[in-house]
Amino acid sequence: MSSKKEQDAKKCWACKSVLVEDSKLGLCPKYINKYGTPVAAVGSLGLIFAGKQLLKNGGKIVKVAANVVKNIKL
Ligand SMILES: [Zn+2]
Repeated sequence: MSSKKEQDAKKCWACKSVLVEDSKLGLCPKYINKYGTPVAAVGSLGLIFAGKQLLKNGGKIVKVAANVVKNIKL
């Protein structure tokens, strides 16, 4: 009868256990440590890489971006 709450409960996508606290990543604390940290690390590295590429090829990227915007508008 009153199983709506259980159905609505958020579950960890890694181990399917019901999350006690609301999790941004949809992971239980155990898997946040397992996946969340590497994901955050990769994200940070990606940003650093993107930043370096931007410094290196700044002009080129701006030109490419401008072309993309033009093409989207057409
Ligand atoms: Zn989990």
